[in-house]
Amino acid sequence: MDIDAKTLVKKDLKHIWHPCTQMKDHETIPLIAIKSGKGVYLTDFEDNSYIDGVSSWWVNLFGHCNPYINQKIKEQLDTLEHVIFAGFTHAPIVKLSERLCKLSPQGLEKCFYADNGSSAIEVALKMSFQYHQNKGQKRPLFVSLENSYHGETIGALSVGDVKLYKEVFEGILIQTIQSPVPKNQSEEAAKVAADVLEQIFIKNGKEISAFIIEPLVQCAGGMHMYHPLYITLARSLCDKHDIHLIADEIAVGFGRTGSMFACEQAGVSPDFMALSKGLTGGYLPLSVVLTTNKIYDIFYGDYSEQKAFLHSHSYTGNPLACSAANATLDIFENENIIEKNREKIAYIAAKLEKFKNLKNVKEVRQTGMIAAVELSDYDASLRINLKVFTYALEKGVLLRPLGNVVYFMPPFVITCKEIDTMMDVAYEAIVSLNTL
Ligand SMILES: *Cc1c(COP(=O)(O)O)cnc(C)c1O
Repeated sequence: MDIDAKTLVKKDLKHIWHPCTQMKDHETIPLIAIKSGKGVYLTDFEDNSYIDGVSSWWVNLFGHCNPYINQKIKEQLDTLEHVIFAGFTHAPIVKLSERLCKLSPQGLEKCFYADNGSSAIEVALKMSFQYHQNKGQKRPLFVSLENSYHGETIGALSVGDVKLYKEVFEGILIQTIQSPVPKNQSEEAAKVAADVLEQIFIKNGKEISAFIIEPLVQCAGGMHMYHPLYITLARSLCDKHDIHLIADEIAVGFGRTGSMFACEQAGVSPDFMALSKGLTGGYLPLSVVLTTNKIYDIFYGDYSEQKAFLHSHSYTGNPLACSAANATLDIFENENIIEKNREKIAYIAAKLEKFKNLKNVKEVRQTGMIAAVELSDYDASLRINLKVFTYALEKGVLLRPLGNVVYFMPPFVITCKEIDTMMDVAYEAIVSLNTL
């Protein structure tokens, strides 16, 4: 049955409440119905194609409808679609867990699964809290970075610091402290920020369960970037005060920062590492928290000791999602993606140069496959992000600036020619703002 885009959008708006959206905006901003996807392109019902410059909210790694991932999911679909994960297991998840433990920073040996990023954060926070509790310590506090984002369930929102999402719910959040994020990518800024963290640990250390960070890039916080030295310093401060380090690699994991995981660049292992988004190549919801045997062992004991971690989600460890994740890891291995991306990273770096000359550009920055162009402080009421979005869309590029930050986080299958189109269109869009 063919349905035209107009009817689809009309029916959508009658019944659907979209995420992160003031729905009234759709009185003036069209909702776009996408018919199909192929590689870096999304195609609408009028057969306009758009380069997916944001990897469909940072999830897609190897293109839409990737033939290899499609095939692997189809094979799994005819074998086992889902099974309860308490008391049962299945082949795709055992294979995936073995591979994740091998790939991740040293010492991460156990995988706990959930089905979205926010839930993974809840798992890490609860595990950390219960670890200390099982050891007879009450540590109700969590520390996170200013400007951080960790998801939108109550616990995840509590450790986040994006006012826009958090402010309304202030009254029902858990107790957290925010420490300054290094103000730029210099080593000096990393040291300054670590000094403040140390003061917080000295003052409140005995009450703090864990310190949570987005390693190297605070994505939702406007692609703010900092030096790996900060993570190294934070690791040693956490060790000194017996505080867990949680690395939220939900957005930056799987090659986005140039290495498989961002923590590698600091040469440290966190106590918990949360993964989601790219985990399934952008196909299906799945998340995982990796942790150490040292932490796992504190939960291990006779049932009557009441030490177990009693947390679960209905769709935990879904076999279809795990097969997509295994296919994604196959592609990393077979096609030597991390190595191959180096060329694209250098290409993007070269293309970023010319943005520096624009008078309404404040700063450009890049970490691996993530690049950002921060514009001058336009007043929020101008909603210049919408202007850039609309301009780029008309030229066949999907960009979704965060406030005054125009960024690029394309699928890794993007070609240099497509990078040209994506970044040239963004450049024109930024130039067009000069007429405001
Ligand atoms: C997207 C994101 C989350 C939340 O993941 P969801 O699947 O959207 O709940 C958490 N942390 C970071 C760093 C993210 O980018």
